[in-house]
Amino acid sequence: MKSKLSLALAAALATATPGLLHAADAPAPAQAAEPVSANPFFTVSSLPYQAPRFDLIKNEHYQPALERGMAEQRAEIDAIAVNPDAPTFENTIVAMEKTGALLNRTAAVFGNLAGAHTNPEIQKVQAALAPKFAAHQDAILLDGTLFARVKSLHDQRDALGLDDQSKRLLERYYIDFVRAGANLSDADKETLKAMNAELASLATTFSQNVLKEVNTSGVLVEDVAELDGLPAEAVTAAAEAAKAAGHEGKWLIALQNTSGQPPLTNLTNRALRQRIMEASLTRGTRGNEYDNTAIVAKVAKLRAERARLLGYDNHAHYVLEDETAGTVAAVNKLLSDLAPAAVANARKEAAEMQAIIDAEGGGFELGAADWAFYAEKVRQQKYAFDESQLRPYFEINNVLEKGVFYAAGQLFGLQFKERKDIPVYHPDVRVWEVFEADGSPLGLFYGDFYARPTKRGGAWMNAYVPQNGLTGTRPVVANHQNIPKPSEGQPTLMTFDEVTTMFHEFGHALHGLFSDVKYPQFAGTSVPRDFVEYPSQVNEMWATWPSILANYAKHHQTGEPIPQALLDKVLAAEQYGQGHATTEYLAAAMLDQAIHQQTAGNVATDALAFEAQALKAAGLDYAPVPPRYRSAYFSHIMGGYSAGYYAYLWSEVLDAESVEWFKENGGLKRENGDHFRRTLLSQGGSKDAMQLFRDFRGRDPEVRPLLVRRGLDEAIGDE
Ligand SMILES: [Zn+2]
Repeated sequence: MKSKLSLALAAALATATPGLLHAADAPAPAQAAEPVSANPFFTVSSLPYQAPRFDLIKNEHYQPALERGMAEQRAEIDAIAVNPDAPTFENTIVAMEKTGALLNRTAAVFGNLAGAHTNPEIQKVQAALAPKFAAHQDAILLDGTLFARVKSLHDQRDALGLDDQSKRLLERYYIDFVRAGANLSDADKETLKAMNAELASLATTFSQNVLKEVNTSGVLVEDVAELDGLPAEAVTAAAEAAKAAGHEGKWLIALQNTSGQPPLTNLTNRALRQRIMEASLTRGTRGNEYDNTAIVAKVAKLRAERARLLGYDNHAHYVLEDETAGTVAAVNKLLSDLAPAAVANARKEAAEMQAIIDAEGGGFELGAADWAFYAEKVRQQKYAFDESQLRPYFEINNVLEKGVFYAAGQLFGLQFKERKDIPVYHPDVRVWEVFEADGSPLGLFYGDFYARPTKRGGAWMNAYVPQNGLTGTRPVVANHQNIPKPSEGQPTLMTFDEVTTMFHEFGHALHGLFSDVKYPQFAGTSVPRDFVEYPSQVNEMWATWPSILANYAKHHQTGEPIPQALLDKVLAAEQYGQGHATTEYLAAAMLDQAIHQQTAGNVATDALAFEAQALKAAGLDYAPVPPRYRSAYFSHIMGGYSAGYYAYLWSEVLDAESVEWFKENGGLKRENGDHFRRTLLSQGGSKDAMQLFRDFRGRDPEVRPLLVRRGLDEAIGDE
């Protein structure tokens, strides 16, 4: 039950794979003591659009509301299961869709605040409720009486006279139960629970090890001269990091979780670059207490065995069946079709860099540790410009209102009115009411754009209130970024990357706002993981669309438009480095698939040897471009993206195709936007995702536009 049991809660409580089972205790009994009026979650918000009562919500409200929410939903579900009336679509499936209102509205706020503005109290509630939530989910999905009703309806689904969306809902419920193990014998269910329990604890250990290894693998530098090339603020940060780690007077290069490390772009000292790269690539494999190699092998083995128990060839088969890609073969084909061309392009990029090394009399062969440093040299030679020249044209209010909102106005007729009367959880958060072209209300949009210590990294969208055709609620959605806040009174001048991200996240917001489905199960972004990034990626195209750009990219002091020559350099530079980017991504995606396509009984026990062999077999063992993540620090594959790291590229195939469609049909026009909205953005998960794409595009997707974008078309030819 991917969406109904609340992804927000699942993410916030972050234990194991959503939709699977965990060994767990019985759910907590309802809390009887607290008066209803004291907890703002206990009643439906009286604010416009049922917006969260951020004026009233306090830390102490979450746990009682989540616990009561689970208890209420359990009682609602029990009543459905034991209903003496014969099962009908209404009294079973629709009834289940209506359960959990308190849990859902609490989890939507809690889950997002845990990411956007957390505190020790919220973190404590997360830890305390993770096992209870797992137990709650198990209690529903393994309820044999309930499943018997679902199954009997599913068996006669063609005779029930259901409309398409209702029939799909029934099928979705049946699939979710079955995938969770509902068809297994009682003995197998117990085996499954034990596997899940072990997987959950292995995943926790893995992620804690990853974090500890990042923190213990930092590279200590004794002599500041070695840091030549590093910007002054990075040198200061390294001195502070060393001091914090008990090495005052030295410098500590902290690592981030990818194989590549940002300081490698700037450091002129080759020996230090090599030390940093070595430290990065060996994380989790050093034979210390944080070594993850045995865990990787153990998880792969357990997942393979669990997949076999559930009737699948391997874990990837289990995962991909429920994704747009559908099959292991389809994913393997996409990745292996692109691999040779990507590596060929990376080799071309390497040749350019080697030429510089040779011209400088370097006398060495380009290695992984040298890549970023020499790529930057090529970039500067070819596209000479500096981010600081750009930023004055990307003032945040211009970008948002005259860029992002303006594009939505041109495409969909949307209008935006700021609502300062709607309460927020932090003074930096802003709220807009969104209206249709004819002035009718559509929903609320929250923008939380600034970085702060209480916010996790990255950018994301969430829904506080999903669109729901059963209750008539309209969507309340939010976007989050981590743009550094300028000092008081200074304008916020964004990087080009931050601008693109703002358009991207608003693409997710539109997916939520336009949702027009009957059942909440299908609302907005409740689509397969390898489809959900697609509408947001499409929305990025408007960031550089000439008429949009002309409307927002104006100098914040002079009002002058961004010079075309500067813009051309930015766009050209965007294309540079695709060989490296695609190769490191494909290597990680292939590795993820290889690990999870092992079958029970044949899982490698030496994770490192397996990794080397898998990369070689895929033709992605090009040493200067290591995988973006190696097995021992590949956090995606321990969490919700196991056998799913390919999803970004899969979404990009659809994205590139859709960008082509807009261009073929006259670009930025209301009728084009309306077509995209009608066929796809409004449909959520109410139809098969590839059918939505076909409804929009008029045919199946082709991979060619993606190849062109990534510079792979010439190498691959006309296939
Ligand atoms: Zn996204």
